[in-house]
Amino acid sequence: MTQQARFLPRDELQTLLDCLRENEYDVIGPTVRQQAIVYRSVRNVDELPVGWTDQQGPAVYQLEESKNDHVFRFNSSPDSWKRFFFPASSEIGTATLTDQGWQFETPQAPAPRLALLGVRACDLAAIAVQDRVFRDNEYVDVAYKRRRDAALIIAVNCGTAASTCFCTSMGDGPECQSGFDLVMTEIDGGFVIESGSPRGEQILEQLPTEPSTPTQRDATQCEIENARKAITKQFDTHDVHHLLLANLEHANWDNVAERCLSCANCTMVCPTCFCSTVDDVSNLSNTKVTRVRQWDSCFNVDFSRTASGIVRDDTRSRFRQWLTHKLATWEDQFDTSGCVGCGRCITWCPVGIDLTKEVAALRETTS
Ligand code: SF4
Ligand code: SF4
Repeated sequence: MTQQARFLPRDELQTLLDCLRENEYDVIGPTVRQQAIVYRSVRNVDELPVGWTDQQGPAVYQLEESKNDHVFRFNSSPDSWKRFFFPASSEIGTATLTDQGWQFETPQAPAPRLALLGVRACDLAAIAVQDRVFRDNEYVDVAYKRRRDAALIIAVNCGTAASTCFCTSMGDGPECQSGFDLVMTEIDGGFVIESGSPRGEQILEQLPTEPSTPTQRDATQCEIENARKAITKQFDTHDVHHLLLANLEHANWDNVAERCLSCANCTMVCPTCFCSTVDDVSNLSNTKVTRVRQWDSCFNVDFSRTASGIVRDDTRSRFRQWLTHKLATWEDQFDTSGCVGCGRCITWCPVGIDLTKEVAALRETTS
């Protein structure tokens, strides 16, 4: 935080939500649903997870009441922001039978103006990864670009961490460095807030803030340091590209395949995984066909089906594909790791498989 950072008192948080709505944004923020943090449209501060925190571990997620009334005292949730730019299911075209034959149309609905409230440093990194895949690439996904470009991102620095977090090992957090329009740090009594873009500055100017004091800025650094110290998981990424690709026949792939259920949870919660499939759905009279894109997973058997059969027909090869793509060949394709260290795949794997431990096991037995 710089000296230009402002202070927004806690009882003016509603003013921020109102201001965003007045600027025609639909605010998407954290809420508590079915005992988990889920991102939904919010209008009032009392919809936010005030006074909630979480406990996480391999295959463990539990919301708990915290000892204070902080709004953003929780860590990665089963939800991620990717579905707002890359929906789990979206119509990508229709074909309608008319007297002149089949007419093809591509949906041109305007992108919603979303203000994403509470984006963490690892999530900013994940959005940047998806930008490389879908937007800042030779082949642009137009629907993604429209949604992404219309969104306002309000980041929040972490003041806590789960046992599954390892953003420090991936160089992504816990402090938000770039990729936001506004960034906030929650301290006692309110939020230290700073803009990161002209759009963010315009919103900031409309808020009832005060110049931040040195004490408030110190408290901000203290929060971020608390989060950094709370991150105990370390992931040795040294030469991981070579380690994985040089050991494609290692016995550890058999070991993990005995535990992995091939359920695809890890890919569904991952904020960077981008695989999809396309289904054509016709009406009963066969006069209209809708082409729908849906999230898919390399853990699904049919994902690798080709004309000559299924390429990866066992769990061993599917897990190996996921891990080697995420941590090695993703770099070849996009010049970045496919992992940002959010820990979601560890928490939401029903048998508690931890990718950092699988890589460590490989490293230990090959060195
Ligand atoms: S692989 Fe796991 S830790 Fe890495 S970004 Fe995906 S969900 Fe997060
Ligand atoms: S690693 Fe875990 S979450 Fe992923 S497919 Fe296997 S059992 Fe499911």
